[in-house]
Amino acid sequence: MLTPAIEDYLKAIYDLAGEDGRASTSGLARRLDVAPASVTGMLRKLAERRPAWVVYQKSRGATLTPEGRLRALEILRHHRLIECFLHDALGYSWDEVHAEADRLEHAISETLEDRMASRLGDPLADPHGHPIPRKDGTLPPRREIPLADLPVGSSAVVSRVSDGDPALLRYLKGRGIVPNASLAVVDLGPLGDPLMVRVGDASETCALSRKVAGEVHVHDGPRERGQGT
Ligand SMILES: [Zn+2]
Ligand SMILES: [Zn+2]
Repeated sequence: MLTPAIEDYLKAIYDLAGEDGRASTSGLARRLDVAPASVTGMLRKLAERRPAWVVYQKSRGATLTPEGRLRALEILRHHRLIECFLHDALGYSWDEVHAEADRLEHAISETLEDRMASRLGDPLADPHGHPIPRKDGTLPPRREIPLADLPVGSSAVVSRVSDGDPALLRYLKGRGIVPNASLAVVDLGPLGDPLMVRVGDASETCALSRKVAGEVHVHDGPRERGQGT
C-alpha cells in the first residue's frame, strides 16, 4: 500500500540523497518534521516489504532500491505536472503551486496524469524549471551548478530555482530570476558576499546573498526547450 506518508518518504529520500545516494535519518526527520524514531520505524518497514523500496542500515541511513526510485520519480512526475497545470491552465502564480501540488500529488490517477501531460504538450520542466520525469521514470540529463558557484565575470542561464518558499519565489521573480533568464555575476562583496548579478541586459545589478544564490541553479546554455517561466 502506497500511502501519502510513504510517498513523502520516498520523495524526501530521493531529494536528500547526495552523491552516494544516501539520505540520513536526521536529515529525513528534519525534512519531514517527524521524530528520528519514527523515521527509523518507517525506513525499516520500507526495507522489509517486498519488493523493498529502500535499503536501510542504521548507521548509514537509507538508499532507494530501483523500485523505490521508480516510485519516487512517479510522484515527482505527478507533482511537477500538477504545478504546470495549475500555472499554465489555471493561472496560479509560481509561488502558489508547490503547496497545492504537495497535496494533490498523492491523489491523481494515472489517467488524469496522462490527460494533463497531453493537454500541456508533454512539458519538460515545471514552472520553477525542475525537470519532469518521463513516464518510464527516466530524467533528461542536465549539467548545472548553483549560481553561488558561478565565478565573477561569467554568465549563465537559469535552469531552476527552489520552490519550497513562496517569499523566495516572489523575491526572485521581482528581479527577473526565472528559468531561461540569462544573467552574469559582475562582482562580489567582501568575504564573497553578496553576489552582484546583472539579469538579462538590465542597466543595474542586483545584490543576492550567497544563501539565496544557492537556491538558484544555472547552466551555460544553449537554452533548453519547453521550460516554463
Ligand atoms: Zn514543487
Ligand atoms: Zn517546482
